[in-house]
Amino acid sequence: MMGAPDRQFSAGDALFGAERSPLGILNRVYGYPAFRGKQQQVVEHVVSGGDAVVLFPTGAGKSLCFQIPALCREGVGIVVSPLIALMRDQVEAMKQLGIRAAALNSSLSREAFMEVRRALSAGKLDLLYVTPERILMDGFRDTIGNSKIALFAIDEAHCVSQWGHDFRPEYRELGRLAEHYPGVPRIALTATADPHTRDDIAQRLGLSNAKVFTTSFDRPNISYEIVERDQPRKQLLRFLSGHKGNSGIVYCLSRAKVEDTAEWLNGQGIRALPYHAGMDRALRDANQDAFLKEEDLCLVATVAFGMGIDKPNVRYVAHLDLPGSVEAYYQETGRAGRDGLPSEVWMAYGMADVIQRRRMIDEGAAADEIKRVERSKLNALLAICETASCRRQAILAHFGEAHAGNCGGCDSCLKPVETWDGTEAAIKALAAVYRTGERFGTGHVVDVLLGHVNEKTERFGHTTMPVFGAGNDLPARTWQSVFRQLLAMGLVRVDHEAFGALKLEPEARAVFKRERPVFFRKDRPAAERRSKRTAQVEPRSVLSGGDGVLFDALRTERTAIARSLGVPPYVVFPDTTLIAFATERPRTHKEMLAISGVGQSKLERYGDAFLDVILSHD
Ligand code: ADP
Ligand code: ZN
Repeated sequence: MMGAPDRQFSAGDALFGAERSPLGILNRVYGYPAFRGKQQQVVEHVVSGGDAVVLFPTGAGKSLCFQIPALCREGVGIVVSPLIALMRDQVEAMKQLGIRAAALNSSLSREAFMEVRRALSAGKLDLLYVTPERILMDGFRDTIGNSKIALFAIDEAHCVSQWGHDFRPEYRELGRLAEHYPGVPRIALTATADPHTRDDIAQRLGLSNAKVFTTSFDRPNISYEIVERDQPRKQLLRFLSGHKGNSGIVYCLSRAKVEDTAEWLNGQGIRALPYHAGMDRALRDANQDAFLKEEDLCLVATVAFGMGIDKPNVRYVAHLDLPGSVEAYYQETGRAGRDGLPSEVWMAYGMADVIQRRRMIDEGAAADEIKRVERSKLNALLAICETASCRRQAILAHFGEAHAGNCGGCDSCLKPVETWDGTEAAIKALAAVYRTGERFGTGHVVDVLLGHVNEKTERFGHTTMPVFGAGNDLPARTWQSVFRQLLAMGLVRVDHEAFGALKLEPEARAVFKRERPVFFRKDRPAAERRSKRTAQVEPRSVLSGGDGVLFDALRTERTAIARSLGVPPYVVFPDTTLIAFATERPRTHKEMLAISGVGQSKLERYGDAFLDVILSHD
């Protein structure tokens, strides 16, 4: 894993600067002009030996918060990362910057392992990536030997918490790090926005006295859209039609649906690969690797995919099924747009999802207390799906963060949702549930409201009830929507034990008594929902003609270099840097260095190759 020629990345003081100042390293190694947000505060705190808990959203730049202190402090920085499959790319990305990095995991050959050991004892490693299970093994201490440790960074720190959705029992052991290595600063990092999980992280990792750094969890470059599912495949195709040439993720709930959807997308001319935990490991890793390395691939996946994926140019995330909570929705959608460029997330959902999710919770093995929390988390997501106001505001409010709304980047803000006084409709709907004995699901109750005579309505004697046909002034779709919203408002609930029967909640009484008016969001007319998408979301669209041509040529060059190195293209340069090349057209090494993302090491490696492309496009 160390790679053969040590000299290739023995950057030394020339690169880091003799004094090794954080800003100097940021400029020379990473090629970035300035720290972002609270990065500098974190870096300074850790450099001076403090413990830190860093709670920044995806794309905020957490990695620098431990990498730079590791370079500033004496010794090797040890990075605990849960994903072996991604370590190679992480190490490779560091090497491209001239940082001496290696990984220690079970996939390492004996020889490679010995090489890491040698580098360690010679003090020739800046960063060492390890899995959590390995770090507390007895052998690890031997491996480290007398080498000085600059810091421990615990990435994806939410894995330590059962409240989070990526719980890994082996993370629990990390709470003992301070005992084993007293005096070594520890920094835990996560994009988790959930307060419950955050508290748990600090406590479980023994970081209760650490300084906590947080920022806003808004992702302004992500736009949100949530639609009612009626013809999911057609709807998905319409969404994807705005993403030709882009990479993205389509999330499905089940493995079977992942396979079917991927196959179907390929039949539609969209290159798609499946990913789920039931697949052969080698194939799964190969598909993940293809997603990281290729530019226009759709990965169809279960939630097993995504943690730790640092591909910066994921341009879209689509959900064909409702996630289990706002936290999960936020994490999964958050994988879009790490590079800060415009990205779109989209979800199609229906009542069936709610029933299925409820069943998953109720039939799950979790303790009652956790089940109760899960139910309320699901309801919170449902409320966001059915809100008539700004989705971003609602999502952030869930995490306790105020936002003024009118974000201009969600479907509610872009096409304001009309509401209607649905008090009468609500009363009819609730009455239909009540009169039929709270024993039936939405489909049947809607049939009763519409006055549909069929085998079931006749068999149960519902055709003679006063509510039968009482709702035939509204179409079936509207009634479906009414029930979803009643559910989101907490006026009814779904009882999965009674096969998805709707039951009244105590709050429904106030509606019956006309003490509580009810407003519903108006569904968009079918024509509008079917309208063709026009905007293409891709970085290239921000570039004018000639710049766009140059950008494509630069991208081709990047692909060629990345292929020859066996690394993802973004490890060479991210899109943001290529866009700056295309618009600013640097003509000398000095001008290149002035561009964000061009550090010393990358300039030496690729500067000339990209300069050639730029100069040939004059
Ligand atoms: P996170 O781990 O918080 O999701 P990353 O560390 O992957 O975010 O950073 C996201 C992107 O932003 C990366 O491409 C990274 O190189 C870039 N980045 C981070 N800090 C800065 C900065 N100060 N200036 C410019 N780009 C930055
Ligand atoms: Zn909005």
